[in-house]
Amino acid sequence: MATEKTFPEIRDAVAALCSQYPGEYWRALDVDKAYPTDFVQALTDGGYLATLIPEQYGGAGLPLAAGCAVLEEVHRSGGNGAACHAQMYTMGTVLRHGSDRQKAQYLPGIADGSMRLQAFAVTEPTSGTDTSRIRTRAVRDGEHYVVNGQKVFISRTEHSDLMVLLVRTTPREECVKHTDGMSVLLVDMRDALGQGLSIQPIDTVMNHASTALFFDDLRVPVDNLIGDEGGGFSCILDGLNAERILIGAECIGDARWFTEKASCYAKERQVFDRPIGANQGVQFPIARAHIQTEAAALMVQHAAQRYDAGESAGAEANMAKLLASEAAWAAGDTCVQTFGGYGFARDYDVERKFRETRLYQVAPVSTNLILSHIATRELDLPRSF
Ligand SMILES: Cc1cc2nc3c(=O)[nH]c(=O)nc-3n(C[C@H](O)[C@H](O)[C@H](O)COP(=O)(O)OP(=O)(O)OC[C@H]3O[C@@H](n4cnc5c(N)ncnc54)[C@H](O)[C@@H]3O)c2cc1C
Repeated sequence: MATEKTFPEIRDAVAALCSQYPGEYWRALDVDKAYPTDFVQALTDGGYLATLIPEQYGGAGLPLAAGCAVLEEVHRSGGNGAACHAQMYTMGTVLRHGSDRQKAQYLPGIADGSMRLQAFAVTEPTSGTDTSRIRTRAVRDGEHYVVNGQKVFISRTEHSDLMVLLVRTTPREECVKHTDGMSVLLVDMRDALGQGLSIQPIDTVMNHASTALFFDDLRVPVDNLIGDEGGGFSCILDGLNAERILIGAECIGDARWFTEKASCYAKERQVFDRPIGANQGVQFPIARAHIQTEAAALMVQHAAQRYDAGESAGAEANMAKLLASEAAWAAGDTCVQTFGGYGFARDYDVERKFRETRLYQVAPVSTNLILSHIATRELDLPRSF
């Protein structure tokens, strides 16, 4: 028994698309640390990355739960949505906080894929998780902001035309609340590269197109300010819930891929004259991973329903991401153990998925910060920082 699968037609269509991009495809990219251009193009052509964009701007106008179905299916098929998932949720900042002019200018291109909005830059080397301490500074100079500073671990910047950038427009010390004084700029990477923006790739354990960004007097038109100057923190905040729920769905996809792989292998692999899956020491961890996955899937579904109903979903989004990322990791660990030595051999894809799924306990937002949020906001425990 598994949790009800919402949007079955979308799932079937995405699974069919993903079957054209099998393990060999992802493995070759992983070795070369290359971007899955063909796969992202196919998803774009199928309209899947425009799932959440309203119809008036050329998207499908579907709820977040439909986006979850797309990304879960990509991961359940053995692929990795990290190359493009931001195209789904980052546009929400423009949609919810952009002016009519900005929406008309950018959303149709994002919907048809001619304009890629894949980059969302918040994290900095010195601020880490404490976003209010970002130092990247934008100072108004006539009709431009002049940006100086640095970002780290920003994904997909080399594969994006636009970037949502969080900057400080008023120093923290001059603000009433430490989350005041930050602003969101939509940066056109095509104009910015080499004109005050430089990008340096960061090599990570998995193929993630991570980069460090350096801003040196980058000029961004004031027209590209999203929302109000100084109100940037709340602009990005509501997008973070969508991001957490969608990534929770990817983790459910990973967990289901691991559990299915482990079950199949445990039925086939014969040692001591019987399938290894006949041993309870092998089958119980797989059953436990399945149970953990289905419980987490319910929370992801619940969080998406609340989000789509316009209800507050902060606690649910955080709980969903925590449970799903831990379920994926537990299922991955069980899958490696079930495969024995073959769990470490590249040809089986298990080790690749294992490396890929580990990220989600750290980014976006680490497990400790979720625990702290739930402890202090939901349970009213004293704050430690
Ligand atoms: C592959 C990858 C892709 C990423 N993509 C993006 C992106 O596209 N855009 C973007 O803006 N960022 C991105 N990030 C950054 C990511 O969101 C951060 O790495 C993450 O939020 C943690 O920040 P940090 O690395 O600075 O860790 P730190 O803030 O230094 O924290 C380190 C550890 O200490 C713990 N910790 C810190 N403070 C506390 C506390 N008060 N109580 C308990 N524990 C605490 C944390 O939970 C964490 O485990 C990405 C990161 C990676 C690795």
